[in-house]
Amino acid sequence: MSKSANANSKAARTEAVNPFHMAQAQFDHIANMIGLSHDARQILRWPMREFKFQIPVRMDDGSLKVFFGYRVQHNDARGPAKGGIRFHPNETVDTVRALAMWMTWKTAVVNIPLGGGKGGVAVAPASLSRGEQEALVRGWIDQIWRNIGPGIDIPAPDVGTTPQMMGWMMDEYSKRVGRYTPGVITGKPLAVGGSPGRKEATGFGVIYQVREAMKLLHMEPEKSTASVQGFGNVGRHAALGFTKFLGGKVVSVAYYDNQDQRPYTISHDQGLDIEFLISITDIFGTIDKDKARAAGYTVEDGDAWLSKDVDVLIPAALEAQIRGDNVHRISDRVRILAEGANGPTTPEADQVLEERNILVIPDFLCNAGGVMVSYFESVQSNMNYYWTREEVLERLDKKITHAFHKVFELAHGEGLYPRDAAYIVAIQRVVETMEVRGWI
Ligand code: NAD
Repeated sequence: MSKSANANSKAARTEAVNPFHMAQAQFDHIANMIGLSHDARQILRWPMREFKFQIPVRMDDGSLKVFFGYRVQHNDARGPAKGGIRFHPNETVDTVRALAMWMTWKTAVVNIPLGGGKGGVAVAPASLSRGEQEALVRGWIDQIWRNIGPGIDIPAPDVGTTPQMMGWMMDEYSKRVGRYTPGVITGKPLAVGGSPGRKEATGFGVIYQVREAMKLLHMEPEKSTASVQGFGNVGRHAALGFTKFLGGKVVSVAYYDNQDQRPYTISHDQGLDIEFLISITDIFGTIDKDKARAAGYTVEDGDAWLSKDVDVLIPAALEAQIRGDNVHRISDRVRILAEGANGPTTPEADQVLEERNILVIPDFLCNAGGVMVSYFESVQSNMNYYWTREEVLERLDKKITHAFHKVFELAHGEGLYPRDAAYIVAIQRVVETMEVRGWI
């Protein structure tokens, strides 16, 4: 593949903030670049199966409220569909489609025997009581249990869903099928077959790769600084890993305040105490800003995290956060963009990042630590034999570091943007399996 073909193909990228259009534009870009067959494109451009359903919930005040739930299975050539369930008020079928498609590339790029799927419910979970949350997640299983299972599709947590919710889902599914089935879902609490190391896996996986990227760039980790968007499961563990494993400073963390219904950035030039911040954050990632202020931290606008003068940016909240209209706000000092979130960067912003030579660790590689330990969790649940946290994190580090180097060797060898290299590795693996299975 020549550099000019690569450049032409890049020029064809279009800005598209609908996440599914964005996922399709990224796919089309690579399909053109590698001359993917029409047969493969037809199958991979759209999800193979989609479910949309009502979930009626009796609320605490006695009223009946109907929520809309989704499950999308994008591709299961390489193994059962795999992907989280997101509870978010702006959830749409297109968000779920995009996330399902990215899961197919994610499981393929780290070479685990799973496909891609995703689910969701349009709901603000923090607005529900614990009893309403339980009714909603059991209702989700009620609607979809026939179409998921250890050999079919294995959900997990994502934005707005918690290990407790996975525990209720596992319980509901096991009751429906009439046998204890911990392998139906991952991200469960340890007491019901969860894996040690799962909760920190995504964020730590991000940091293991930041460590490798710093080696490529000859950076000194203990002198480096980072700014993180999102302080939920991914953001807080990435921030923790950045300070603990690399010895760097996290100077800013942005979050969405569920009370004020707007985002804020918490900052301190000398570095934030991440463990302290975790202690004042609720299960949905909302930080108590009054306690943060009292500790001497500044509370700024929600988008301040993006323009901080740091070495590493870690978007770990939602998609389409770095776009054509705000990418210019990234400081000249930034050398690494580690995409903890799914789809945080739009194709238009990608062009600018590439021109500026910022090393981007692309989302479906960068945040694959979660699905990798989810895979380890399934393996352990199916065996009913559990590894130690150290064993889990050691295997995670080894496998994700290997996947990182596979992508970056291709990127450097062919002069490719890392996202393109990751897509090529992933798509070629999925296509090879579809060919061997006789699908195309
Ligand atoms: P979460 O619900 O635990 O946390 C989300 C965080 O983002 C919260 O702190 C929230 O306040 C913050 N946030 C939301 N909107 C924001 C905004 N506009 N500005 C600033 N902060 C905002 O979710 P999570 O599980 O940490 O997932 C975060 C991202 O990582 C998502 O894109 C998700 O798809 C992706 N991801 C998650 C996992 C996982 O294992 N949990 C794995 C792979 C990818």
